[in-house]
Amino acid sequence: MKTIIPFTILLLVNTNNLAFSASENTPASSSEGAFFFLGLIGLIVVISGVVMRCPSCGKWWARVSKGKREIDRKGSYKTVTRRDTQYNKNGEAVGHIERQEQVHITTVYYENYYNCKYCRHQWTSVSSKEYEG
Ligand SMILES: [Zn+2]
Repeated sequence: MKTIIPFTILLLVNTNNLAFSASENTPASSSEGAFFFLGLIGLIVVISGVVMRCPSCGKWWARVSKGKREIDRKGSYKTVTRRDTQYNKNGEAVGHIERQEQVHITTVYYENYYNCKYCRHQWTSVSSKEYEG
């Protein structure tokens, strides 16, 4: 607040229009931030609800995980950027060096089993996870 008040006064001195919009915006932007934050939480809740929705009865957060089974795995190469810290002779960090490295990636595919906790509907989905090596 200590920095905002002189700034508002400065605007008040310069032009009346700017001072009006600045004093209007300062309290509004903080509540907009709160609304944005609430909106973000709401969005996460909605996404989790939709993701865990039962495809049969349509109820949200109905999904109960019943385990998974590996169905496939594929190997591939991927270029990653590694960041090494450089040290001087006293052992102090003096900088970083970035280098590209080819790594072998194993992508494992899983079949996931789900149950609906409301209607007992069963369904599966396929997911994948990447491992280095
Ligand atoms: Zn259901």
